[in-house]
Amino acid sequence: MLIIQEVLVSDDVVKKQFMCNLSACKGACCWEGDYGAPLEKEELSILEDNYSKIKPYLTKDGIVQIEAKGLYNYFKGMDDFGTTLLDNGACAYMTKDTNGTAKCGMEAAYNDGVSDFKKPISCHLYPIRVNNDENSSFEAMNYDKWEICDAACKLGEEHQMPLYQFVKEAIIRKYGLDFYEELHAAAQHLKAD
Ligand code: SF4
Repeated sequence: MLIIQEVLVSDDVVKKQFMCNLSACKGACCWEGDYGAPLEKEELSILEDNYSKIKPYLTKDGIVQIEAKGLYNYFKGMDDFGTTLLDNGACAYMTKDTNGTAKCGMEAAYNDGVSDFKKPISCHLYPIRVNNDENSSFEAMNYDKWEICDAACKLGEEHQMPLYQFVKEAIIRKYGLDFYEELHAAAQHLKAD
């Protein structure tokens, strides 16, 4: 366990090798699971402000569901707000490319420069999950092991890609460059031990 700027970082985050393998998983994290993608409090209003710009990038089913159920919902099981789900459990903001690989409608709007919300930070960081540590007031970054990502663990091993480096952009988005550089230095130190 590392402590970087008052964030508890589990060993898996620095030691685990991981690289999403979309040709194997097809982005299954967008449609598997029981809850919507967790949204931070500030993201609720950011999503509200950007929804009209994101809407043209969504599927018809997604729009119908979002407009019936809301832009986000409270999920009791995770005690948090998350993205709205379709009745089949997929994220209502998900689209698919011609190969059947999941794409994010929010990210498509962002990439076209029409929205300033890339996607929920929880999706950007995945498979790292950030929670409040039960025994302290610190936030904790943990690796969320899920069998749908098994091919990503194998690909990460092949490329020797540590998980924290794979999600570098998301870590910098959430905590800043200084945090990332401290984490990287600590990881290098652990590796040399
Ligand atoms: S997080 Fe897992 S399921 Fe999602 S794209 Fe990466 S490997 Fe696939």
